[in-house]
Amino acid sequence: MGRDDLKKACEKAQRELGMLYEIGNAMRTTLNLEQILYIILTAVTSHVGLSFNRAILFLLNEKENNLEGKMGIGPDSEEDADLVWSHIEKHKLGLDQLIEPQSQLEHLKKSRLNKTVKSIKIPIEKDSGIIALTAIKGTAFTIRTPKKDEVKFLDSLNLEEFVTVPLKARDKVIGVILADNFITKKPITEDGLRMLTMFANQAGLAIENSSLYEQTVVLSNSDSLTGLWHHGYFQYLLGEKIKESGRKKECFTILMVDIDDFKKFNDANGHQAGDDTLRTISNIFRQASRKIDTIARYGGEEFVVILPGTKKQEALVLAERLRKTVESSKDLKNITVSIGMASFPEDAEEKEPLISKADTALYEAKRTGKNKVCA
Ligand code: GH3
Ligand code: MG
Ligand code: MG
Repeated sequence: MGRDDLKKACEKAQRELGMLYEIGNAMRTTLNLEQILYIILTAVTSHVGLSFNRAILFLLNEKENNLEGKMGIGPDSEEDADLVWSHIEKHKLGLDQLIEPQSQLEHLKKSRLNKTVKSIKIPIEKDSGIIALTAIKGTAFTIRTPKKDEVKFLDSLNLEEFVTVPLKARDKVIGVILADNFITKKPITEDGLRMLTMFANQAGLAIENSSLYEQTVVLSNSDSLTGLWHHGYFQYLLGEKIKESGRKKECFTILMVDIDDFKKFNDANGHQAGDDTLRTISNIFRQASRKIDTIARYGGEEFVVILPGTKKQEALVLAERLRKTVESSKDLKNITVSIGMASFPEDAEEKEPLISKADTALYEAKRTGKNKVCA
């Protein structure tokens, strides 16, 4: 290698290291998984990063043994590409600005690619195509002209030339990144793939750290008997919900649920059977509620449910459904619940009065015969 070549190689290595360092720093600013993924894919696609046109990230779902599309970043079309790239060029946006939470939200909300990606699920089997193979073998692939069975499950992406690299955390594959240049059609180079692989190792660790952290948060805020949120975390969530709903001028309703004559049940069937009942009821609530609802164990045999965006009239229907499900459940014997409701903002606009209104309604349900809903 001549002097000039050596100098060039040194400069390139320096640039690459600098870039990895900058991305690493960005990833250390947050433990939120969604934000980490956004930073990773922005780094793969941005001109100050690896400069791919498009990047898509899949994460392993161990329980279901599949790879799920989590996020896709890149323009939806050529016009979109012109718009976004010229905006970035004009404003000389660096990585810092590209990964701001506000710009994240705006981008992801509008992106058709991201929506498509989120609907992809790929079973981890040898004949599931190249993404599954990347995870199984733990190695990168460059595909110049994809065969049909290589891009199974990826029809919606209209792939031509692309690369895949495994995301690893301590030698275990936790996901896959796919990247391509579907707008510029720039061929993917050895160098590009090498950088992507190097970067994927760093990214894998960041993802693992963030999922470990999120699991810890969930565990430390859950009740160990039922797996529902515990009292303290419910108080926090309710406070947040009040702030958010006040700001957005939205309503919500809380349900206070209490098992009827549970002391008698314990006395007749034993504490162990009582615990089983609490677990069964928790599962019934989980199944009967909507994804947006929050359920917590408020205390001994009391539960509380937050129903976002739900007015009293609609909440009444949901509460009644919950009550009936418990009453008619084959997994429970002779167990019923009473429910008291209170709505934000119509009944109260602050935490304590809201809970106390729901409590009063619950007391009313108990006083007037139990196994009923009162508002
Ligand atoms: P009411 O219909 O008025 O609600 O009557 P109740 O007997 O359900 O109410 P009370 O508040 O008098 O008693 C609640 C009982 O719930 C007391 C306790 O035996 C039982 N309990 C509370 N926490 C647990 C628990 O974690 N496990 C079990 N097995 N029982 C519990
Ligand atoms: Mg009670
Ligand atoms: Mg009770």
